[in-house]
Amino acid sequence: MLFRMAGVRRFLWGVVAAAAFGWAPQATAQQSIHEEYTRRMRETLRDARISTELVRSMPYSSTVPTPLEVLGSIIGEPGILHHSAEIYRYFDSIDAASPRVKVWRIGTTEEGRDMIVAAIADEATIAELDRYRSMLNALSDPRRTTEEQARELIAAAKPIYWITAGVHSPETGGPENLMEFAYRLAVDEAPDVRHIRDNVITFITPIVEVDGWDKQVDTYDYNQRRPAGTPPLPLMYWGRYVQHDNNRDGMGQMLAMTRNLMKEYLVWTPTVLHDLHEEVLYLYTSTGTGPYSPELDPIVIHEWWLMAQNEVMELTKRGVPGVWTYGFYDGWAPNYLFFIGNTHNAIGRFYEVGAYGPDDKVALGEWERTSREWFRPNPILDSIQWGPRSSTNMTVSALLLSLRRTADDRTLFLENFWLKSKRSVEEGRSGPTHAWLVPAGQRRKSDAAEALNALRRQGVEVHTATAAFDAGGVPVQPGDWILRADQPYRTLLDVYFALQNYPPTNPAPYDDTGWTFPLMRDIVVTPISDAGIFDRPMTLATGDVRAAGGVEGAGGVIVVRHTGDNNLVTFRFRFPDVAMEAAEEAFEAEGRRFGAGSVIIPNADRSRLEPALAELGLSGFAMPSAPVVKTHALDVPRIGYIHSWSRTQDEGWVRGAFDQFGVPYTYLGEAKAREGDLRARFDVIVWPHGGAVGAGAPTVGEPLPYRKTAEYPNLGTPDSADDIRGGLGLEGMEELYRFVVQGGTLIVEGGTAAIFPQHHLLPGVQVETPRGLFARGTILRGIISDTRSPLVYGFDTNQLPVYFSLAPVLNATNLPAVTLPDSALDRRGTSIGRYGGTLLNPNAVPLELSPWVPGESYAPSGTPGAASAGAGPQGLAAGRSRVGLPGMRPRVVIQFPADPGDMLLSGGLAGGALLAERAVVADSPVGAGHVVSFAIRPFWRSQTQGTFILGFNALLHWNDLDAGRDDASSRPPG
Ligand SMILES: [Zn+2]
Repeated sequence: MLFRMAGVRRFLWGVVAAAAFGWAPQATAQQSIHEEYTRRMRETLRDARISTELVRSMPYSSTVPTPLEVLGSIIGEPGILHHSAEIYRYFDSIDAASPRVKVWRIGTTEEGRDMIVAAIADEATIAELDRYRSMLNALSDPRRTTEEQARELIAAAKPIYWITAGVHSPETGGPENLMEFAYRLAVDEAPDVRHIRDNVITFITPIVEVDGWDKQVDTYDYNQRRPAGTPPLPLMYWGRYVQHDNNRDGMGQMLAMTRNLMKEYLVWTPTVLHDLHEEVLYLYTSTGTGPYSPELDPIVIHEWWLMAQNEVMELTKRGVPGVWTYGFYDGWAPNYLFFIGNTHNAIGRFYEVGAYGPDDKVALGEWERTSREWFRPNPILDSIQWGPRSSTNMTVSALLLSLRRTADDRTLFLENFWLKSKRSVEEGRSGPTHAWLVPAGQRRKSDAAEALNALRRQGVEVHTATAAFDAGGVPVQPGDWILRADQPYRTLLDVYFALQNYPPTNPAPYDDTGWTFPLMRDIVVTPISDAGIFDRPMTLATGDVRAAGGVEGAGGVIVVRHTGDNNLVTFRFRFPDVAMEAAEEAFEAEGRRFGAGSVIIPNADRSRLEPALAELGLSGFAMPSAPVVKTHALDVPRIGYIHSWSRTQDEGWVRGAFDQFGVPYTYLGEAKAREGDLRARFDVIVWPHGGAVGAGAPTVGEPLPYRKTAEYPNLGTPDSADDIRGGLGLEGMEELYRFVVQGGTLIVEGGTAAIFPQHHLLPGVQVETPRGLFARGTILRGIISDTRSPLVYGFDTNQLPVYFSLAPVLNATNLPAVTLPDSALDRRGTSIGRYGGTLLNPNAVPLELSPWVPGESYAPSGTPGAASAGAGPQGLAAGRSRVGLPGMRPRVVIQFPADPGDMLLSGGLAGGALLAERAVVADSPVGAGHVVSFAIRPFWRSQTQGTFILGFNALLHWNDLDAGRDDASSRPPG
């Protein structure tokens, strides 16, 4: 009230400036107040401290409706959430009513819902949006813009500040609050809001995960109306694939929401990408604790801090408590949605705002975050009466203050954008890395092409060599792919391709520590240091690239190489009616050498198969007769896929990979597994991470259905059930075990890989829970210890990079348990968010990374003649005698190295001795069937394409996994 005269809204800074400098009060347009909206706002606000002059009243417009007119309620009113259709109706209605607002669709989700952008600026700017877009596009590419032109553009252009929300479906404030925010930004005549409209183009995507949002609103409504005494329905699923991990799709870009946003992003080349969340109190504005991704331009680090400190200062000086930065999240991994801004020379940042409700509640300040710190000058209170309106006030105030700073410093942010783009190109020109070569003839050529297309979708330019040449001593063949470093998004390539070295003495990382793109995808990417490459003959790819594929030669038999390419599984499942066989050993035919796993198709219909092989980038060779080699039939399995109802977060990454590569499956809730008769229905069952035996709601009381109904049409996808209570249960476990004993193959990964051994159903495999292991989302060396297993068909050496995160640690060789001395256990720093002002360990020393040379065989370090000693079919572990139960011993197909010094390829690791020779992939014969256990996550976040094929091999060879086993006779009777 202090700064408000009756009927006229004024801004704090206007008054302060006038008072401080004795200026005459500026004549401001008299704008009346929306009395009804304002009254209800005040009634719903629970604590007057969570407010600023920016949101104390609602300006009135005679032409543009507020959410009250369109939706019947104000924003911040308890108990109300709006479906996406209503939110879009609101945005469309202000588009229709105001020349300052323009709304358009940017794509659809997996379930067919629209995603939108609303642009808000002054009417002249909105009328010329395309002109402003072309200015930013010009600033984004210094190869076509001169320094002089850039100076003019920086003076004339306007930053695009893109706000996104609703990525995390239960975080309900963003999509609701952005409606009120949009209204205020469009209609408020106060000088500072006009200043924002005149100088900044604000983009709003109110809901990113639209499928999850509508499920959230239905779930919320269901729970509000459900009969007393019935259990609440949890939010099942969000989008089709993953829940909270959906904002970790910035690198892998599997989800439609990420792809749609990315595509539109590249059209506009915005200046800021700002994501809204609500995980901590009351307002956290991102900088992170560090360590920061070292490949980022230092400019963006300072921009994070400039913008965050602006919000902390502006809100704190208005007396708003609990506005802080620094002590939450780190700034290390580039996998977040908002990181698209940081890897594209813009600014990526986020807020965490106290929850939107859904009901009024007293939110106790978390004790660990109430201390007064340099990054938190006015801390969170011990307790406060919170509520959805507090979330609205906080979000809208902070966003307006951030936009005002962006408007004030418009030329600074544009200049920085230009500079980052320019430096990206210049650093590529000056080297030392001038380009990266991706050989088109490499073993996994089709996976390499897919990797390049993933980069193309993120705006990276891919060139193709049109002649043979040598660059920096690296021979380049015509058709090879080249990623030039003199391109504006070189920074993205640096961030993705670099080796990570996370010092384990730092605070615990917020997410993965390692992500090196060529390692995760197991493809060859060679840096080239030779500026002469810029003048070599090459053409820019204007569409997706494709690996060479098809059929050479003549004859009725076609042999398709198994190169480890994931498309091989696509090929097999696309032609289920075609009889195919797999070679169990390497062989020579028609003067060529073929590896184990090569697919032999007798009586092949070439006209039918050849186009598919060409499309998939797979190499087939026709020959008059079948090669002489031991084979087994590639029987197409009937695949069952079990998901948990208690945790629908993790399995979607596996499902997404199956969908992408055309692997068909029957999707089953855990309870369906209890129905039994599994072997009659399925040959393979996939039970991904997230499954558990005892999990799930208790089964007392009424059934809890998850179904689409007329009242709740958004529920019941992608799976439905009449009752989601209860987990797999011991009965389900028994059925799964019976399925295996009867000849089925069970594939488990991550958490589910620990379940059978914990129930003593997997003899010879023990789960260890070692103290002192630090291995969060890191890339380690996997040693192929049994090169004859079908699970590793397609690999030509005895090692591969694998992604591992914390657990499970599987001991399948009866090695003695390792214990670390107590002095070794305190390597991991404490979490800053939890314990207040702990600083980064300034003496944190990175570990030595092990070198990785694609295609080279592994031999333990320090071994004389190491280059070749480890090669050979028996691999590393051959010498170790395993003492598993007679006849039941598991086949350790991939394991970690014996020497911890050989383990870390990229990321962070401490206590590596605890992983020495532990199983990465084990194949356990059980009865007539198999359990294939992955201690790694082979299908992690659409980033580990290099290990997809291990899971796909398990599908392809499901009933021939004993092939190559050196002691097949020791198999127990089925
Ligand atoms: Zn969130």
